[in-house]
Amino acid sequence: MDRHQSALALVLADQPELPVHCLRPGAAKKAAEFFVRSFPGDVLYAVKANPHPLIIDAVYAAGVRSFDAASLNEIETVASRCPDARIAFMHPVKSRQAIRKAYFDFGARIFSLDSLDELDKIIKETNGAKDLHLVVRIAVSSDYAQHKLNGKFGASGQEAVLLLRQARAASEELGVSFHVGSQCMRPEAYRAAMEIVSDLIRQAQVTVDIVDVGGGFPVAYPQLSPPPLRTYIEEIAAAFESMPVLENADLWCEPGRAICAEAGSHIVRVELRKGDALYLNDGAYGALFDAAHDGLVYPTRLLRAKKGPRRVLKPFRLYGPTCDSIDTLKGPFLLPSDVHEGDYIEFGQTGAYGAALATRFNGFGEYVEAVVEDAPMMSMYGEALEVENVVALKTARA
Ligand SMILES: *Cc1c(COP(=O)(O)O)cnc(C)c1O
Repeated sequence: MDRHQSALALVLADQPELPVHCLRPGAAKKAAEFFVRSFPGDVLYAVKANPHPLIIDAVYAAGVRSFDAASLNEIETVASRCPDARIAFMHPVKSRQAIRKAYFDFGARIFSLDSLDELDKIIKETNGAKDLHLVVRIAVSSDYAQHKLNGKFGASGQEAVLLLRQARAASEELGVSFHVGSQCMRPEAYRAAMEIVSDLIRQAQVTVDIVDVGGGFPVAYPQLSPPPLRTYIEEIAAAFESMPVLENADLWCEPGRAICAEAGSHIVRVELRKGDALYLNDGAYGALFDAAHDGLVYPTRLLRAKKGPRRVLKPFRLYGPTCDSIDTLKGPFLLPSDVHEGDYIEFGQTGAYGAALATRFNGFGEYVEAVVEDAPMMSMYGEALEVENVVALKTARA
C-alpha cells in the first residue's frame, strides 16, 4: 500500500482522481493501548466500525485478543489475521449456518442473543454444546447517545428475566450485555444501564459471569466535545463494583468508534463550485454516510501547498456525486472562502463507520487507499493537528 508523510504530501504527489481513504494504523494502536491499559476488564474490538486488515493488525499489536464480530465475514477476517483471537459472535440474530460455522469451523464459543427462539437456534446448531458462553443483550436507553441504538435489539422486563434463566441453563458462562448507543456523550449512561441490568439479574436469581458494557465510547468531533474517556472508565468501574448481584463476574467492553475513528480520514476533490455549494466526488453513499444521514460534522481542511496568511473561513454546503438529493452534507463545514474546483478537502475522524459504509451506488464508491503518517485532526489520546476550522467552530460556540 502507498505510504505518505502526510495527506497533503499524498495530494501533491498524486493529484488523485478518486477519493482516498487515508489510514493511520498508529492512531488505532494508540487508542487500543489506552483501553487495554485503562479498562479494568477485557477489551473486545467491535470489528464493524472498521474491518480493514491494517486496523485489525494495529488493534492486535496493542494487545487486544478478543473481537466482537457480527457476521461470518467479520469472523473470517479476524480469524485470518489473528489465529489466537477469541471471537465473540455478538449479533443477537444469526443465521443457522452462521452459528454452525462460527462454532465448528472458527471455534467461537461466545454468542449473544435477545430471544428464546435465538437461544433455541444456538443450542440446536451447536448440537447442545456444553461450553457455550451466552450473552443476553438487555434493552437500555440511548438517551445520551448521538447515534441511537435502542428499539431494535435487547430484551427487557419479564421476557429478559425468563431469557436469563433459560440461557443460564444452557451456558457454561452466562453474560449480560447492552449498548448505550454510539458516540455516548455522558458517562452516567453506563451506570444507568448497569442498574437496569442489576435489577433484572436480581429478579431472575441467576449467577452472572460476564458484564459486557458494549460500545458507545465517544471521540471528538467539531461540534461534540465529550468528557475524557477515563471518566467513562471510572464511572463503569465504580458502577461495576457496586453491582450488588455479582459475585465473581468479569467486566468486558466492546469499543468500535473510539478505537478507529481517529485512524482514518478521507480525501475528496471539489468537482464544481456554485456560490456557497461545493460538489464533491464522495458523499452520502460513500464514506461520508454519517455526515449526510446523521448530520455528523467532521473536521475538514483544505489540502493546498501554499501556506499564505490565515485564510477567511466560511460555511459551505456540500454535495456528494450521486444523483440523489439525499446526497447532501448539511454541515456546517468551514473552509477557506476561495475554495475552488480542483481543490482537495480532507475530512478527519472518518476511520469509524466511514469506508465501512461506502456503497457503489451510481457507479461511484471506488477508492484509493493509502497509509499517511501525520497526526489525526482531533484526538482523545494526545497529539492532534491544529486545524483552522476546528478552532473556528470552537470559538463560534464559546
Ligand atoms: C456497533 C456495536 C459496538 C461498537 O459500538 P461503538 O459505538 O462504535 O463503540 C459494540 N457492540 C455491539 C454489539 C455493537 O453492535
